[in-house]
Amino acid sequence: MPITSSTSGFSGTDIPPASVYDQCVRCGLCLPACPTYVETLVETSSPRGRIALIKAVDEGRLDLTSPGFVHQMHECLDCRACEAVCPSGVAYGQLLEPARTQIERAIQGRRSLGDRLLRQFTLGALFGHLWVMRLVASFLRFYQQSGLQRVVRASGILRALRLDHLEAQAPAISDHFFVPQGQRWNTTAQTRKATVFMHAGCVMQVAFAGVNEATVRVLNRAGCDVVAPAAQGCCGAIGIHAGDIDRGRELAKVNIAAFEDSGADFYIVNAAGCGSSLKEYGHLFAGKPRWRKRAADFAGKVRDATEFLDSIGIAPPLGRIDAVVVYQDPCHLVNAQEIAGAPRRLLASIPGLKLREIEEPAICCGSAGIYNVTQPEMAARLQRRKIEHILAAEPDVVATANPGCALQVSSGLRAAGRTIPVKHVVELLDESYAAYNPTSRASSLSAASTVG
Ligand code: SF4
Ligand code: SF4
Repeated sequence: MPITSSTSGFSGTDIPPASVYDQCVRCGLCLPACPTYVETLVETSSPRGRIALIKAVDEGRLDLTSPGFVHQMHECLDCRACEAVCPSGVAYGQLLEPARTQIERAIQGRRSLGDRLLRQFTLGALFGHLWVMRLVASFLRFYQQSGLQRVVRASGILRALRLDHLEAQAPAISDHFFVPQGQRWNTTAQTRKATVFMHAGCVMQVAFAGVNEATVRVLNRAGCDVVAPAAQGCCGAIGIHAGDIDRGRELAKVNIAAFEDSGADFYIVNAAGCGSSLKEYGHLFAGKPRWRKRAADFAGKVRDATEFLDSIGIAPPLGRIDAVVVYQDPCHLVNAQEIAGAPRRLLASIPGLKLREIEEPAICCGSAGIYNVTQPEMAARLQRRKIEHILAAEPDVVATANPGCALQVSSGLRAAGRTIPVKHVVELLDESYAAYNPTSRASSLSAASTVG
């Protein structure tokens, strides 16, 4: 590992707190939980190793931009499995994200023009303005559904341009989009339990519109009025994980203000990665007095859809789904939000459904936001590991609660030559309700709810 003094130490704001890394007693109990360590058995690819590297940079013993340090900060999936098992309570996520931000600030002037433009487009335009996301998704849908994709794939041009891996990662775009534009869906239940804000997401609204619609129906059935204010945006997770914490804060402010203006009681999210970020807004603004309280209040109202439905109690789903179902724990649900029981209880409430556990349920599937694009080799190794465990359980359906996991598991199953459907927990609940009362979906969402 090169040790130079050219970029020693962290500087400015958003520094990994010494109070967090000093809590690590180097016991090593986190090592078996860390996906990159169990794959490599290399100390620097472990939580303990990475914490030591961060401390070394902070103390000026290691160059912030040394290739080894940069690699480790990006090879880490930010899956937080280490946090979940650490007996000393080391909040690892509070180290990683500032470390990535510090690296990004140090190297941004050295990026090529192409790199800078790509980053600006991805983080600034695509995730910053969701109409751009929908526009790009519309082109992608045409490419996927017109037959053009088949022709292009068969031509071999993607392989020649080394774009085949990237192209294969693109999600299948929905036939229509779920566009938040101020809709309100009132419950028909006799007792209204709450008004909830529906977070439409970014990829969720263009590639999982059906999951968002199912979420609204199940929430309505559970006695909640649902609102989808137009002013909401991306949660900011992609920017924060990519070291652009300032852009993440700007997006967070948009969501905080939209929720405050909505009058809703809770902020509901059905994507675990987004939920984890939204719940950490209080921490994101910890050093910003003007926003700290608003962010903390907001974060206290965020609920994952499965967590919320489980907590308020739902009418028993009565339609049978005779299937063996494996539940794939999203890291940002089980580790970052400590939610493992709620989705399992909801699934187990469906008549006929047999829930089966897999080996190593808490080891990441390799999705982790855009990890499978930035670290394709490790992502593929973890994907194969997860798929082996899933197939060993012989499921008819894989359930999950995060779009990244759904895409990663789906593509892994396809690569293994299997056609096992992957569904969100709320989709299965919605299917069960509809199976018992087929007209229930007609009460579904008004045409105004979906565009595209
Ligand atoms: S389990 Fe916690 S205290 Fe032990 S090595 Fe890992 S991070 Fe450090
Ligand atoms: S966040 Fe995940 S990949 Fe990163 S060190 Fe912790 S367990 Fe390992």
